[in-house]
Amino acid sequence: MFQRILVANRGEIALRVIRACKELGVEVVAVYSQADRDAPYLELADRAICIGKAASADSYLNIPRLIAAAEVADVQAIHPGYGFLSENPQFAEICRSCNFEFIGPPHEAIRKMGLKTEAKLIAAEAKVASVPGSDGAVTSEAEALRLAKAIGFPVLIKAAAGGGGKGMRVVRDEATLPASVQSARNEAEAAFKNPAIYLEKYIDRPRHVEVQILADLHGNVVHCWDRDCSLQRRHQKLVEEAAAQLPIDVRRKLGEAAVRLAKAVGYTNAGTCEFLVDAENNFYFIEVNARIQVEHPVTEEITGIDLVQQQIRIAAGEPLPFGQDDVRSEGHAIEVRINSEDPDHDFRPSAGRITDLRVPGGPGVRWDSHVRAGYSVPPNYDSLVGKLIVHAPSRPQALARMRRALDELVIEGIKTTIPLHRRIFRHKDFLEGNVDTTWVERVLMPPK
Ligand code: ADP
Repeated sequence: MFQRILVANRGEIALRVIRACKELGVEVVAVYSQADRDAPYLELADRAICIGKAASADSYLNIPRLIAAAEVADVQAIHPGYGFLSENPQFAEICRSCNFEFIGPPHEAIRKMGLKTEAKLIAAEAKVASVPGSDGAVTSEAEALRLAKAIGFPVLIKAAAGGGGKGMRVVRDEATLPASVQSARNEAEAAFKNPAIYLEKYIDRPRHVEVQILADLHGNVVHCWDRDCSLQRRHQKLVEEAAAQLPIDVRRKLGEAAVRLAKAVGYTNAGTCEFLVDAENNFYFIEVNARIQVEHPVTEEITGIDLVQQQIRIAAGEPLPFGQDDVRSEGHAIEVRINSEDPDHDFRPSAGRITDLRVPGGPGVRWDSHVRAGYSVPPNYDSLVGKLIVHAPSRPQALARMRRALDELVIEGIKTTIPLHRRIFRHKDFLEGNVDTTWVERVLMPPK
């Protein structure tokens, strides 16, 4: 096992990694930008090193500064968390060439999976069905038109290097295709410095179901079942559940597909294969996320596996301590993302000082958050202030538990998504499981 690890991240996930290290008896070094100087979790690390100014480019995205901090602190490994550099193959490669183990997959696997067009080709080799679409990037409007006609409208334009829902355009007819191709390319270039786009069939009201993978350095790959992340707004997840409400044979097939895919790309460490599921329970691969995900706790709750500790153990060369048949799926877990955003005003970010914080407790309730009363949410980074997670023997019990936990949770001083979640957990469609990725915008908050 490593003696010391550096966490190249901030906020909730930095604290999550610190906790995992403590339980493993590993020393942990935190880094922070000037904007995070007073972040409460820094005190929980064995050491905290300032890496630069508030702007991410000067701190959490700055590879030389992170490597310098790792050298100064004399760590053996670097945990990238999620976001920032977590899926940057160059960062993974630089870490390893500087003799720091990168707690994540091989950089070759990150690189291949980072280009969604490439990932779909690998999926095809692994006999995993993807959403029908273009085999690779689309370069001209004429080609886009020809392909869209072959696929059949509506189609979805996606950025090959995309993430976070950026660069996506639904196109319903020929007339609007050229303008959408152009604007998607511009958005992709601006967001990912790569204008490559591709086309997919737009699946009507799908559910988003993803599979958690763990793969060690000795060829063992297991899936840790699934999560349903259909509750999204503008392709950003709001609520995640495990297990997905699907027949057990479909869940098994999803898991097996994800394992085949991970093996095909030489994947190691923790990762997620994302799928869309249609009304007939057909599933289509969309992408791999080569990192720990925000929603990993729901999987931890139903399986009893500490995924972050497993990431560290795998990177240290330990074989997985369990086989596929040992990975259970027990009860039902739900996570809601509490963001510092104003749901009444187009989810405008709401930075500022938290004046009061009252956190729910009781059976089956987990609160993963870096904030406390008196803490000021900086305006510089993403808006996640906490994740409220519940676990119960059944979905109805988990829903009731989340409802009462949300009613106990009080965050004052900033606007949050708590009122939105209280509505969701009282809505008949959601309670009955009748939601899809378009439900929030179609039913819960339709355009005025
Ligand atoms: P990103 O990496 O930007 O998050 P994804 O490929 O993971 O993009 O897709 C994000 C979300 O967009 C999905 O969860 C789903 O809601 C929607 N989506 C993606 N592809 C399709 C598709 N072909 N048809 C319908 N919805 C889609």
